[in-house]
Amino acid sequence: MTPQRMCVACRQMKDKRELVRCRVTPEKTVELDPTGKKSGRGAYICSSPECRKKARKCDLLSKALGVSAGAGTYDAIDAFWENNG
Ligand SMILES: [Zn+2]
Repeated sequence: MTPQRMCVACRQMKDKRELVRCRVTPEKTVELDPTGKKSGRGAYICSSPECRKKARKCDLLSKALGVSAGAGTYDAIDAFWENNG
């Protein structure tokens, strides 16, 4: 079994490879963690354009992580999936 994680937008459990991780840094900011290996609280979002749109609109990462994510985080997620999707 491959590890599964939940997307913050569609709340579906998906294979880790279908999600990208964001994590809270020690400085209490949110950054993309494409390796999925950095320490800190994490939240996942899948490659679906609808999920990315919804996450940005409702700022779901900030809600999931308890730290303000900022537009730059959502830009980084979009860029990640444009390059890896
Ligand atoms: Zn999703």
